[in-house]
Amino acid sequence: MKGMMQAAVVEQFREALVLRELPIPTPGTGQVLVKTEACGVCHTDLHAANGDWPLKPRLPFTPGHEGIGIVVALGSGVTAVKEGDRVGVPWLYSACGHCEYCLAAREPVCAEAKFGGYTVNGGFAQYIVADPQYVAHIPAGLAATEAAPLICAGITSYKGIKETQAQPGQWIVISGIGGLGHLGIQYAKAMGLHVCAVDIDEGKLDHAKRLGADACVNAKSGDPVAAVKKATDGGAQGVLITAPSLGAFKQGVGMTRKWGTCVLVGLPPGEFPTPLFDVVANCIAIRGSFVGNRLEMAEALAFAAEGKVKADIELQPLSAINAVFERLAHGDVPSRVVLDIAST
Ligand code: NAD
Ligand code: ZN
Ligand code: ZN
Repeated sequence: MKGMMQAAVVEQFREALVLRELPIPTPGTGQVLVKTEACGVCHTDLHAANGDWPLKPRLPFTPGHEGIGIVVALGSGVTAVKEGDRVGVPWLYSACGHCEYCLAAREPVCAEAKFGGYTVNGGFAQYIVADPQYVAHIPAGLAATEAAPLICAGITSYKGIKETQAQPGQWIVISGIGGLGHLGIQYAKAMGLHVCAVDIDEGKLDHAKRLGADACVNAKSGDPVAAVKKATDGGAQGVLITAPSLGAFKQGVGMTRKWGTCVLVGLPPGEFPTPLFDVVANCIAIRGSFVGNRLEMAEALAFAAEGKVKADIELQPLSAINAVFERLAHGDVPSRVVLDIAST
């Protein structure tokens, strides 16, 4: 496809993204071209633009790993999708397919994995080149704008809940009720768990209640660990930390019941102190979790297609990205902003 497209580009870390006119990319052998309809704005995009993590993206790059669109052109040899399919171009952009992790469907940790909007250009653009083996297949009946948050925030919170191994009827704490957490509450309820929501913002906690949280704790007031232990009668079997704040991590370990599992998915740069005696003597598991595999992507989308999970979205134009990042940095985005790229 010839012509130019709009893209929001990170040219320097910690500086405003620049709206550029770039040539529409050409899909190579085994790749497809996706015309973007919508792309969610994940807190990870902000970490990427700030160069927060040890492995930094190469400048310049186009962020966005919640891009949903229509396949408009196929490179040679593509059979996994066809023109006109609605797909998502996720964080797990591609992987090798044959290492021990790929074979075990633990493909997000493949050493050859590429990351959408990070090591390859992503969805803050009118077109995205994608690997058809790794795109998300969007169920009929889900609008692009509604599907966007599910392909990162949705799958990550869903997989994180599974990794806690909390069983129906048991408690899960979800710490951080933003893009990931507001979906996490809905997945957890649909999976039969009792949910205790933790955030530092009363508005987010009110929202958590409306989404079905059984208990809410404000981590800014009093002793949040004691409050969670009281609400859950001794701590939660599962704890999922989505908060992009180091303080939430030590607290999350403290909120975990004996023999429970604390799953870390938030990615603020840095380290957090671990109370070794408590972890050992209470037999607590602490585990990281990184998006999910392709089957889990399909499962996470199916919950939404069945009406059990619905992303709460605020639409913004691509040109508003810098204002959106500013709000995200200050916790001022209620749930998820989705860039309405179709009307760019
Ligand atoms: P977000 O900004 O939408 O939401 C974060 C929420 O955490 C906000 O509601 C905020 O008020 C709350 N919060 C801040 N400090 C807190 C604290 N001390 N205690 C409790 N809550 C607190 O962010 P998001 O898009 O949901 O992403 C969250 C984090 O998850 C980011 O660090 C992101 O990079 C990471 N992430 C990880 C994965 C993964 O695969 N592991 C995938 C996606 C995002
Ligand atoms: Zn993300
Ligand atoms: Zn691999």
